[in-house]
Amino acid sequence: MMFMSGKKDQKKKAEKPQYGMGSNVLYLLRLSREVPGLLLQRSCLVLVSVIISVTGLYMSPTLLRILEQHQSLERFLGTLCAFALVLVAASAVKGYLEQQNVRLIVSREVFLDRISTKAGTCSYPLLQDDSFRNKWEKSRNATNDNQSAAEDIWRTMFRILQNLICFVIYLVLLTQVNYFLIGVTLATTGLGYLVSYHFVQKDYQFQEEASKPSRGGFWVFNATRNPKLAKDVRIFGMRDWLEGMYAKYRKLAEDVQKRRAKNNILADIISLALDFLRGAVAYAYLLFITLRGNLSAGEFLLYFTAVGGFTSWITGILSGFTTLHRQSIEISMIREFCQFPEPFRMEGGRELTVDAQGVYELELRDVSYQYPNGKKPVLEHFNLKVRSGEKLAVVGVNGAGKTTLIKLLCGFLDPDRGAVLLNGVDIREYNRRDYYRLFSAVFQDFSILGGSIAENVAQCTTPDMEKTWSCLERAGVRERIERLPGGLDAKLEKKVYPEAVELSGGETQRLMMARMLYKDAPVILLDEPTAALDALAEQDIYERYNELTRGRTSVYISHRLASTRFCDRVILLEDGGIREEGTHEQLLALGGRYAELFQVQSKYYREEGVREDA
Ligand code: ADP
Repeated sequence: MMFMSGKKDQKKKAEKPQYGMGSNVLYLLRLSREVPGLLLQRSCLVLVSVIISVTGLYMSPTLLRILEQHQSLERFLGTLCAFALVLVAASAVKGYLEQQNVRLIVSREVFLDRISTKAGTCSYPLLQDDSFRNKWEKSRNATNDNQSAAEDIWRTMFRILQNLICFVIYLVLLTQVNYFLIGVTLATTGLGYLVSYHFVQKDYQFQEEASKPSRGGFWVFNATRNPKLAKDVRIFGMRDWLEGMYAKYRKLAEDVQKRRAKNNILADIISLALDFLRGAVAYAYLLFITLRGNLSAGEFLLYFTAVGGFTSWITGILSGFTTLHRQSIEISMIREFCQFPEPFRMEGGRELTVDAQGVYELELRDVSYQYPNGKKPVLEHFNLKVRSGEKLAVVGVNGAGKTTLIKLLCGFLDPDRGAVLLNGVDIREYNRRDYYRLFSAVFQDFSILGGSIAENVAQCTTPDMEKTWSCLERAGVRERIERLPGGLDAKLEKKVYPEAVELSGGETQRLMMARMLYKDAPVILLDEPTAALDALAEQDIYERYNELTRGRTSVYISHRLASTRFCDRVILLEDGGIREEGTHEQLLALGGRYAELFQVQSKYYREEGVREDA
């Protein structure tokens, strides 16, 4: 059937790529410099493919002519062997080259490197930018396997080249017969292409329609295997409900598949009819001139075969460009993602030396900030100075803006108004990567990487073991790690290492504290660092608090007000500003909002049986 090269080649909806097909092809050719041998290998593949096509085209007619002309058997066998030899040798080389996918994989890896570098180093707010995330998602899809655009576009480009070369050869051959034959072939092929394009578009719509029920069905299927849902499925008797949903999705998917099959059968019938028409016209015409004695049987066979080949080259070129168009859009997405403008200065800027013992005063001056999709400002005309060496606690109810304040301080977000200053200098003047070197942190949503305990603490592949043990000790988790088989070399993250150890939430949080200590940065940020700890472990951390932050500036968010007594100053956030400020004792004595919140918590903790006066 004269279908284009795969239904998934069709593009989902109108996209507006920044880079056109020509620009992307040139970009790929420039990129090929990073993959030595790629162009040569692909060119050789085209060459042998052309040799196979042309040899195949001439083989039968040539042999027929030898028979027609009653030439010797030796001549016949010799020619046959020569053709067979060329075909076998070229096919072997082609098979070999087709198996050599390493260079294509490397070319995809070049893209993967660029994507992961951008994703890992981009300005933090971009991670919440819909356009950026959309391009990221599409870039990932364009590079996720061997059939994805980043790899397959090379095959497409060289397939088009091969089709073009063969097209020219066959065109030259057919012009020796008659222009009428070329016209009929071109017309039926072009018409066939348009018809198949129409049906492929429809087929694509069916695929879109089918994707919803199949996604739903897939989700239900996976839900039954998901250990996290297993308890709920059993306790709430969700099995029947899930099976009902699955049956509904399956029925919907089957309906779409039936309509899709009808569409494809119709496309096949029309395509076959056009093939038949072209074949019949070519056959009749060639037969006519053969019977008039203008063509030998060998020539008849040659031209008749050439008509079929000519058709496939034209279809190949047209469908090749359709595929190239779609893949080019995907390549454009990758380029757009990698070149997505950075809101922060990530290179150059004012020089910043980072010294663990250095003096760094941080200030938020008249800062206002509202999330792009937020309903109201989180902070408004906010002023705060964090003195060098100060231990500042930030408290407030959920949603008061504590985490946002930390993100502004450490340069993850830029204020809409006002400025964040480091020793009086707007931090936008520094390169943001340098600025991050000032900070070490334990965030609520901590991250474990697939590697050893030591690597996770040191965040590098060559950890200083002595320093790692010391940090683990200070974070109160050394004994636990010592007991692990493998100790510091024990692996974390079961998805990567099946033998990986599983630490509890509290142990992991202590590991994150050890990581914070290892970085030895002048400013420490702690965003609810005890959230995963039980009350006693939490108390242990408070007692270590001075030790953990000794000689450093620290900003500490805590939901447990009693813990702020270890801090030099406490600020209570409310309604976008600082509502109360002072030491723990001063704020209690004030008898305001802080004291009120503290009373509620104390009562709760007393009921829970936890010592509150720790
Ligand atoms: P806290 O740490 O005090 O609980 P946050 O700083 O996390 O408060 O959040 C302050 C407010 O900003 C909340 O109303 C929260 O819903 C909102 N917010 C936080 N993150 C985002 C975000 N990424 N997009 C939109 N709104 C957000």
